[in-house]
Amino acid sequence: MSNLLANLNNEQMQAVTLPPQHALILAGAGSGKTRVLTTRIAWLIQTGQVDPSGLLAVTFTNKAAKEMLARLSAMLPVSPRGMWIGTFHGLCNRLLRAHYRDAGLPQLFQILDSGDQLAAIKRLLKTLNIDDEKYPPRDLQHFINGQKEAGNRPAAVEAWDDHTRQRVMLYTEYEAQCQREGVVDFAELLLRSYELLERHEPLRRHYQRRFRHILVDEFQDTNRLQYRWLKLLADDGREGGAALFCVGDDDQSIYRFRGAEVGNMRDFEREFRVANVIRLEQNYRSGGNILDAANAIIRYNANRLGKNLWTDQGAGEPIRVFEAFSDGDEARWIVEEIQSLVRDGASRGEIALLYRSNAQSRVLEHQLFSAGIPYRVYGGLRFFERQEIKHALAYLRLIANPDDDTAFARVVNFPARGIGARSLESLQDAARTFNTSLYATVPHLSGKPGTVLAQFVRLVETLRTETAPLPLPELVDHVLHGAGLRDHYLAEKEGRERLENLDELLNAAANFVAESDADAETLKQPHALLADFLAHASLEAGDHQAEQGAEAVQLMTVHSAKGLEFNAVFLSGLEEGLFPHENSILETEGLEEERRLMYVAVTRARERLYITCAQSRMLHGQTRYHPRSRFLEEIPAGLLKWLAPPKPRASASTSGSAGYSSSSYRANAAPASRPELGGLRIGQGVSHARFGQGVIVAAEGSGSDARVQVNFGPAGIKWLLLGVAKLDPI
Ligand code: ATP
Ligand code: MG
Repeated sequence: MSNLLANLNNEQMQAVTLPPQHALILAGAGSGKTRVLTTRIAWLIQTGQVDPSGLLAVTFTNKAAKEMLARLSAMLPVSPRGMWIGTFHGLCNRLLRAHYRDAGLPQLFQILDSGDQLAAIKRLLKTLNIDDEKYPPRDLQHFINGQKEAGNRPAAVEAWDDHTRQRVMLYTEYEAQCQREGVVDFAELLLRSYELLERHEPLRRHYQRRFRHILVDEFQDTNRLQYRWLKLLADDGREGGAALFCVGDDDQSIYRFRGAEVGNMRDFEREFRVANVIRLEQNYRSGGNILDAANAIIRYNANRLGKNLWTDQGAGEPIRVFEAFSDGDEARWIVEEIQSLVRDGASRGEIALLYRSNAQSRVLEHQLFSAGIPYRVYGGLRFFERQEIKHALAYLRLIANPDDDTAFARVVNFPARGIGARSLESLQDAARTFNTSLYATVPHLSGKPGTVLAQFVRLVETLRTETAPLPLPELVDHVLHGAGLRDHYLAEKEGRERLENLDELLNAAANFVAESDADAETLKQPHALLADFLAHASLEAGDHQAEQGAEAVQLMTVHSAKGLEFNAVFLSGLEEGLFPHENSILETEGLEEERRLMYVAVTRARERLYITCAQSRMLHGQTRYHPRSRFLEEIPAGLLKWLAPPKPRASASTSGSAGYSSSSYRANAAPASRPELGGLRIGQGVSHARFGQGVIVAAEGSGSDARVQVNFGPAGIKWLLLGVAKLDPI
């Protein structure tokens, strides 16, 4: 019937037009899962099977949600605006805003991103006088989030020892602090909305009746709680409940460390008695060589649901591999290659530079910047995470919710107004005694600290009154001036860029108003819209924020690249210890997750894939020598085209030689061999009397200074002097 279905293969068409029943589309990368999901939404609406308001679709990132809305707008005459399409966090935020009272939250509750959450935990430890060496804030954060993601409130956590009991106590205190301050962290968004639906039957019934179709992209990366949340909305799969349509790829499950469970796919099939399991095997994205490499790599993993991808596009380009002397050389080479691609007519926006860890981006950024190539970093320090923006947002948050202690602590003395650490400490002590927020405690304080702090409170009060009648962008502007932020950065030597960012915040507010689907009622209450804007800012910061624009080279971690595709992909840092990451090497499951990550990376490329590694690299302030990644060795040699440097491998040079051009490399030359380590090699298993068994991950120095770095698993990663430590090969 409709042209919507014109460009689908048989299996895709079957999936798109399934009757309203539960379905699982299980398929490899680039086989059209996302396309099928989007087309199904359009098809359901177009054929009148469902009203746009009866749909709920979950995407993995805000960027994906925006793209889906854009594609739907192009396919359909109706505006998809009111539709519930977004990330789990975005959808939960929407639910909690609509029912804040039932959820036990203040109307203008604020969202803590993970940086804010860490700050809040540090503050808590300080108030409680807890040794943060014994209870490192990051561990505690991980513990709390892990429990929330498993659906556990403190009372439900099994405390098997004193240490855990203490952590549970801190979890309880942390919850009390958040509640007092009217803030929720990311994991809380989900848990709170889950509990809201679970406990509130009329509300649950309402949404269960409303949503006829629930569609989930990247289903393999949902965690337990997200799965339960979906189950609740779909009325456990009962007759009359929503049809749950999930698409995913077990080979691309890369968030196990964040609690995602591939087991959800099996549970879904069983618990929902899914009759429709459709596999898509034709890949439309990548050339044959790229696909063969991906298939070959992932075959090294055990326990796969099993599928194979094929393409009718022909072999295409070979995979180009380059081994550099140093990370600096690697970056220079990549930049030269990008320049030559662009000279040949490639669009910069279609070139992606991927890396395993964020820290790798700095060297790459530096080279791109020096060469004058526009680039955009997804992830890393994103706009909403920059210092000046966080300061500005903190003022705005205080206006929306004075009990937000994180915001209070951030700006009470910024710009400096003579409020010292001592005053703040006595304020915190008093807040603890009165069990009130910092803001509300100020009037209880006497003496000089009381006077200065009261001035700050007056400033915030004045700003709140003055901004009440203003539209959002003017409100923001007024606060930037009134709080003294503009003057502060004007006076700062390097403040220009920060001022530009503050201007950008005004643009962000104006855009937000233009794109907002807030009703007339909300628009009349600027502070309510402000809360929406702040929620938006927190969610964007938690995601790799998509600044659109086709003309910049795209930099991101492999994790952030999931679901995306580019004509040319550079995958850098293919070294043992880096990719696979050193923390994962000793453990089969960890290694398999790294391999899935590698599979994701390789399958992002349409036409060209480059893989690079460096013989030496500066990492954490040290020069490291890592061997080539095993993943590189897992690709059949015939698919690779080595672009070797003209010089043999240097044993210890880190500076490298600059300026050779990519055309001067000998193609197909074998890579240089690596230096010896007194009979040991990197990647070798060794045993040590005290630390047990481990794997050599790096080496440096020579002669009596020669040292190796060994990952001993539970005993940690150690540097050992070869001449002193006794290491037996195993
Ligand atoms: P990933 O696992 O990486 O998320 P995916 O399975 O979601 O991949 P899509 O992104 O939906 O795959 O599709 C990959 C590419 O193939 C897209 O450019 C899409 O437009 C194209 N494509 C999908 N199906 C077809 C088809 N039947 N004909 C032509 N192109 C197609
Ligand atoms: Mg996809």
